[in-house]
Amino acid sequence: MFYIFSSSIFLFGLAVGSFVNCLVWRLHSGQSLFGRSACPACGQKIAWHDNLPLVSFIFLRGRCRRCHGQISWQYPLVEIFFGVLFVFAWLYNLADIFGPAGIVGLMKLAGDPIWLKARDLWLILARDFSFLAALAVIFLYDWRWQLIPDAVALPAAGLVGALNLFLDFHWKNILISGIIGAGFFLVQFLVSRGRWIGGGDIRVGLLLGLGLGWPLILIALLLAYVGGALMAGLLLVSGRKKLGAQLPLAVFLAPAAAFTLFFGSAVAAWYLALIGY
Ligand SMILES: [Zn+2]
Repeated sequence: MFYIFSSSIFLFGLAVGSFVNCLVWRLHSGQSLFGRSACPACGQKIAWHDNLPLVSFIFLRGRCRRCHGQISWQYPLVEIFFGVLFVFAWLYNLADIFGPAGIVGLMKLAGDPIWLKARDLWLILARDFSFLAALAVIFLYDWRWQLIPDAVALPAAGLVGALNLFLDFHWKNILISGIIGAGFFLVQFLVSRGRWIGGGDIRVGLLLGLGLGWPLILIALLLAYVGGALMAGLLLVSGRKKLGAQLPLAVFLAPAAAFTLFFGSAVAAWYLALIGY
């Protein structure tokens, strides 16, 4: 049972990765989210059997069946990434609830999948999965087009915030964290009159705040800025960017938030020990 669940979650991750790819492309090209995908090169509608995550890419050797135009490596990479990421989230949360040794017990358990009865496990996974998918759409979109898709950021912020309220979070915690996340960027936006950061970053800040809660939101913001500063320094030194050039902020915020979701508490504990608490 454990392996059936784990492999189903891997397949679900592939499907979500495929959906993330599709969402990024269709949001940009302004197409409806419904209806079949088409080849961007020749416009040929893609049959369902040529549109299976990962499998079709391998069978078609990364080319369109009709025009043989290359399909971007982004597609299978994002799909595999999500398959692995979702299995990781599943094992991580099982270890969190049953203990690391408990997972070994679950693997050996033949019948009676006791994790089915852990109600919070499914809520946490729903929160993690939707949070990670939204972050990936924002990351890819900002990376490619230096824009934040608000059609994703705002509904996702509402969804993960609501799921957190059903979990252990107090509403004051989520409220404060959301205000910190959005406010952090709002202040910079107002001070710079929109020159340092865009309005979309405020919405991403809100998503991070509602998704992570207090105090993890602080860790995510800190990590994003350390990562961004390091990258800016590297680009300056190597002469690939000039001083004052803008880096797409969400490209740092999204990975920092995903990392903080799983390892933020460990980072916080390490830091508090470091400064002697
Ligand atoms: Zn084609």
